[in-house]
Amino acid sequence: MSGPEVLVIGGGPAGVSAALELARAGIDVTLCEQGPRLGGAIHRQPDDPTQSVHVPQSHKRRWQALSDALAGSTVKVLCRHMFAGIEATGAVLLEDRIHGRLVTRRPAALVLAMGAIERVAPVPGWQLPGVVTVGGLQVMMKSTGRAPDGDVLIAGSGPLLVALAAQMASLGNAPVAVLERSPRLVSLRVVASLLRAPAYLREAAGYLLTLVRSGTLPQRGVCVTAIAPKDGRLSVTVRDRAGRERRLLVDRVALHDGLLPNSNGTTTGQHGPFIVRAGDCREVLGGTAALADGRLGAQAVLAHLGQTAPANKGPAAIMARERQAQAALNTLFDYSGRDPAQLPDETVICRCEGRTLGQLRSMLSADDPVSAREIKLNGRFGMGSCQGRFCAEWVASFVASQRNGTPPQPSEIVGSRWPVKPVPISAFVTLPPSSPSE
Ligand SMILES: Cc1cc2nc3c(=O)[nH]c(=O)nc-3n(C[C@H](O)[C@H](O)[C@H](O)COP(=O)(O)OP(=O)(O)OC[C@H]3O[C@@H](n4cnc5c(N)ncnc54)[C@H](O)[C@@H]3O)c2cc1C
Repeated sequence: MSGPEVLVIGGGPAGVSAALELARAGIDVTLCEQGPRLGGAIHRQPDDPTQSVHVPQSHKRRWQALSDALAGSTVKVLCRHMFAGIEATGAVLLEDRIHGRLVTRRPAALVLAMGAIERVAPVPGWQLPGVVTVGGLQVMMKSTGRAPDGDVLIAGSGPLLVALAAQMASLGNAPVAVLERSPRLVSLRVVASLLRAPAYLREAAGYLLTLVRSGTLPQRGVCVTAIAPKDGRLSVTVRDRAGRERRLLVDRVALHDGLLPNSNGTTTGQHGPFIVRAGDCREVLGGTAALADGRLGAQAVLAHLGQTAPANKGPAAIMARERQAQAALNTLFDYSGRDPAQLPDETVICRCEGRTLGQLRSMLSADDPVSAREIKLNGRFGMGSCQGRFCAEWVASFVASQRNGTPPQPSEIVGSRWPVKPVPISAFVTLPPSSPSE
């Protein structure tokens, strides 16, 4: 195939859908996925195909349809290839994890479909070993087909809590409790809004039925206020709506407070390729929207390349419907986390660098206003291996709540340099494998 190459980054529904749309238009397209297999967050495939986690039939059918379409397409798939950023000359850097080296490409356009970032609001003790994110635990379960051992507590807010709990119960180790911060989980108004997107209602009903059977329905209006090590386990202090506190002794805690788009620190440089974002990476609207958004991203690329995409209002209409459904769903949950005013100074905010709330408060107590750059370079918030993707949003909103003037944007703390994710130093010095004739 000749003509300009387009790289699509991320092998979830948005990336696969974008790649298929581009291939259908005759574009030379390569789909890069950092992991060993395509699937993304929702359709993650197990390491051993005989050991899979129970997922709704509709999810299975959707992934099968995408896989079949991909197999019959001209899309080139590169798994174990991580997008590392765009360097000054405009070259796209990929970490080839098969050969342990960096490779460069010069595509005409780049579709970034790298999925959402999981949000967890800080609580004292959340940095301890044994505390994980709900999404992280779900990824582990989907990869291994096994539930985690021991007593697991799930807490925070959002539909993912119920999904994980039901999947754990189906694998034979239901969580000891599911603590949902929001005080109400049912609203007739929300159910009415979701009738236009009934897949959510069916999925929720399936999970809730499993939880009824396992006796682990979510406890509403209950939140975690602190986690501490105790006798090799975790002692978790939880508070209910009436302000009553109790302690639970568990082996693992899975926390989650919603999903955020992934701005990923990549900007279009002067010499770089045309960039579009698609799926949860751009706007968190779920799997159905990710498929439609992948097509919209591809159509934007086609327009940039001077190809007229066939007029089709379908994807935009799906996006509008899913946006409405998500907005209705979001009214049920409380992603706010614990009030920062009640968090003690020792609370770790940046888990990568171990930076605490006390250190942030002391920076902000200086007479002169502190810039985002100073928060990052001097305070070291967002300086660790995740480059602020997990703490920048919280730090920016805390700073905004503490001072007048222009608050920093999370993107200023994340920055826009490459590599956008850690790359082993050896990848910079490993040469391409020599060909047999050399
Ligand atoms: C942890 C998690 C669990 C979820 N579980 C559910 C669920 O149970 N039910 C449900 O309905 N919805 C779930 N969702 C939401 C749903 O997965 C998403 O709405 C949908 O999958 C979004 O599709 P996407 O293609 O935009 O992103 P994703 O499906 O997240 O796919 C993004 C892909 O990009 C890859 N990637 C990321 N960075 C790079 C990089 N630098 N280089 C190369 N590849 C990269 C990732 O490995 C991933 O495969 C979950 C979301 C998350 C984050």
